[in-house]
Amino acid sequence: IVNCYGGAESTSVSVGVRVRPLSSREQSSAEMRSVVDVVGNNIKLTTDSGTVHCFTYDHCFWSLDDKHPLYASQEAVYNALAQPLLEKAYEGYNTCLFAYGQTGSGKSYTDLLSRADYLHSQNPPEDQLPQCRAEVELSYIEIYNERIYDLLSSGGSGSDRREALRVREHPKDGPYVEGVAHHLVSSYDHLQTWLMLGNKERSIAATGVNDKSSRSHAVFTIKLTQMQVEDVEGEHLESSKVSIINLVDLAGSERVAAAQSQGDRLKEGVCINKSLLTLGKVITALAESEGRRRPFIPYRESVLTYLLKESLGGNSRTAMIATVSPCNVYLEETLSTLRYAQQAR
Ligand code: ADP
Repeated sequence: IVNCYGGAESTSVSVGVRVRPLSSREQSSAEMRSVVDVVGNNIKLTTDSGTVHCFTYDHCFWSLDDKHPLYASQEAVYNALAQPLLEKAYEGYNTCLFAYGQTGSGKSYTDLLSRADYLHSQNPPEDQLPQCRAEVELSYIEIYNERIYDLLSSGGSGSDRREALRVREHPKDGPYVEGVAHHLVSSYDHLQTWLMLGNKERSIAATGVNDKSSRSHAVFTIKLTQMQVEDVEGEHLESSKVSIINLVDLAGSERVAAAQSQGDRLKEGVCINKSLLTLGKVITALAESEGRRRPFIPYRESVLTYLLKESLGGNSRTAMIATVSPCNVYLEETLSTLRYAQQAR
């Protein structure tokens, strides 16, 4: 039996799926094997009963062996998904890049910021264009149980002492996090330093509860302001173009199933479910509403989508990298990730 989902036509969201290699433990186990195959833009998953599920995406990346025709290096993944978004950001679009997948499937490994030095290298050399200047400002937050925490405030760490921040809505610029720290950066190294500090804060806050960081969404936001000064017929004209780049590490998708558990886990599961499901709904509603005058998009149904409102709809571009394990043990999780990524297209 073969089930096929999706076709070649894609909406405005560009979706790539990356399959991680089997770990050495998985390779040496007699019960574990790969059940995933990549053929062109299709991912095929074969269940024990022999059902083949086939999904189509904009990009498929293989990493089981480097002889495979679809084997993808970090650079290839970056070039397919992140670089086109950054180019759009330079044109003035707001952009969002999501990483979705089960914990342990390669979200951190894929680290699409690793080549964000592109941002820096795109600044025109001063001697060539003295009238053009770019300013880069960043903030880094995490959303845990529908509450927002600053990962780059100078305050203390540890989840208990952290203060939750609120989202407010500016009449023109849309939703923003009230009181979040913004940092101006002058180089890619500088940007990396803040990112690493934020990641460290995220993991410190996570200690106490086993691997809590996979239960929060992290949003790294870069605000790019390009300023230009022109002398037109003796007049000194200044203009600026502002674009927002959001890099979003979503909570581990296995938590969707945690909604069946109890207590704190139940709350986490419900919150994660809510944001991931709302994100899916928002992306679908945006795609379906193209051309309509005042479509209803359910941004307000989760903190994540409300906060990203101005970067998801309208003048914006979105991409998603979904990461999966090829191992039979995670078949259900992999199937659920593949379905989610399919629906985002
Ligand atoms: P996640 O962030 O989703 O929890 P990780 O990125 O930590 O998962 O990946 C889990 C393990 O798999 C790590 O040891 C990582 O090095 C390895 N891994 C993941 N993706 C790849 C890949 N594409 N190629 C090689 N190793 C990978």
